Amino acid sequence: MRRSTVNPVSFRADVVVVGSGPGGATLTRELARAGKKVLLLERGTDQRRRAYYGTYLGALLYTDRGSLLFSEEGLNIIRPLMLGGATSMFCGCAAVPPPWLKAKYGIDLDDETAETIDELDIQPLPEELRGRASTRIAQIGISMGQDWRPMPVFKRPGRVQQFDCGAKCMLGCRCGAKWNAAEFVDEATTIGAELRTSARVERVLIEDGHAVGVEGRLGRRRFEARADTVVLSAGGIGTASILRASGWKEAGDGIAMDTTAIVYGFTNEEGTGGEPPMSWFWEDPERGYMLSALIDPWLLYPLMAGLKSVRHSLRWPSWNRALGVMIKLKDEVSGGLLTDGKISKPLTETDGLKLTAAEQLSRRILVQAGADPETIFTTPLRGTHPSATVRIGHLLDLNLQTEIKGLYACDASTFPEALGQPTVLTIIGLAKRLAKHLIGADSIHEKRHASRQA
Ligand SMILES: Cc1cc2nc3c(=O)[nH]c(=O)nc-3n(C[C@H](O)[C@H](O)[C@H](O)COP(=O)(O)OP(=O)(O)OC[C@H]3O[C@@H](n4cnc5c(N)ncnc54)[C@H](O)[C@@H]3O)c2cc1C
Repeated sequence: MRRSTVNPVSFRADVVVVGSGPGGATLTRELARAGKKVLLLERGTDQRRRAYYGTYLGALLYTDRGSLLFSEEGLNIIRPLMLGGATSMFCGCAAVPPPWLKAKYGIDLDDETAETIDELDIQPLPEELRGRASTRIAQIGISMGQDWRPMPVFKRPGRVQQFDCGAKCMLGCRCGAKWNAAEFVDEATTIGAELRTSARVERVLIEDGHAVGVEGRLGRRRFEARADTVVLSAGGIGTASILRASGWKEAGDGIAMDTTAIVYGFTNEEGTGGEPPMSWFWEDPERGYMLSALIDPWLLYPLMAGLKSVRHSLRWPSWNRALGVMIKLKDEVSGGLLTDGKISKPLTETDGLKLTAAEQLSRRILVQAGADPETIFTTPLRGTHPSATVRIGHLLDLNLQTEIKGLYACDASTFPEALGQPTVLTIIGLAKRLAKHLIGADSIHEKRHASRQA
């Protein structure tokens, strides 16, 4: 193969951050606020002001393989690749970090979480915006003895003229009420951080056991970015892939997905499709799954239902009378990244038992909510939370550093096990905590340097 004779584009910064999802965006902003020279490299582009943002066409364009990424076992993985990462398509649910993160692993994110809740005004939607059908599902759950609660959300209905949130919000938020990590990037760049989009990092540069930068492609040209600190925030799949390509074969050995399925049922009343997704939820850590009210956007319904059977997809005209209970499993770490970009994510036996129990309960809720039992079915499995591929305690220390000095990970890949709940608030907390560590480590380093000079 002939090597290009064109010199690579080169950059220099104090810290290089790879990926602009909630992990990378938060870290970039915190470090920029502390006066660090940060270079943020993002593989995708900013889609927010494109005419197709938040449409079906958009979702095809800005997700990995047009949303047709499947694990070897047939799990459909939705992986947005754009500025803001998956928060550009998320449901906006906010769950505080699970208590086991502190109790079992010693990771205390209490202060960082409180600060984020305060800053982003995270709280449940007002009662009148939670949706009638979703509220009915929650009330039935409560009457069955479950502790359903309104979901705190990253949404500020008061900041838009018309709050217009429904299942379609999962394609991207068009009404502007939902927070997106790209907003943290906007702030970071106004105070000096440098952002390069269409910058796909391939490999970490390592010299004498220390990370010294990254290299990859910037559009069609090669680039090299040098820094004393490199933080990979390219998500559960992206971060592990970069580490693998850098020679670290253990990265991506095992993956969690918070595997989901939707149990559908059709009624004669209005369904959950036009209502904000997941406005109510019930989580029972003992059972290892979470339930919430949600269905697929209109045009996606026949595709997802069709994967199950043609009979179910023929109910498409009744989409607005569909009720949905979404199951989110706290799945076990299994499978992992294979060669050639393939992914394996088998359900373990324990996962299978949890799924069956959750399906049976969801079915009972739907029947009580008035769904015709003949119409009830469960969709094929999906994964929207690729995570736990570069786990704390396995490949990372408690400060998220790898065994290579100066090389960190900061995103969903770092979870020591599946969260089994919305991830973003935990990732923001981890990024704020890492920023404190890096700023503290640097000031110690600077003080030592100054005292040596004196
Ligand atoms: C449809 C959907 C709904 C969801 N709903 C919720 C919800 O309601 N609440 C919640 O908390 N969570 C939700 N999630 C999950 C949540 O959005 C993700 O878990 C979270 O965004 C992961 O953050 P991250 O920083 O790890 O990575 P990501 O958000 O995946 O960001 C990684 C970024 O890195 C970039 N990247 C990847 N590879 C490279 C590379 N080689 N070089 C440069 N850049 C690269 C990607 O383009 C991407 O922008 C949802 C996810 C989806 C898909």
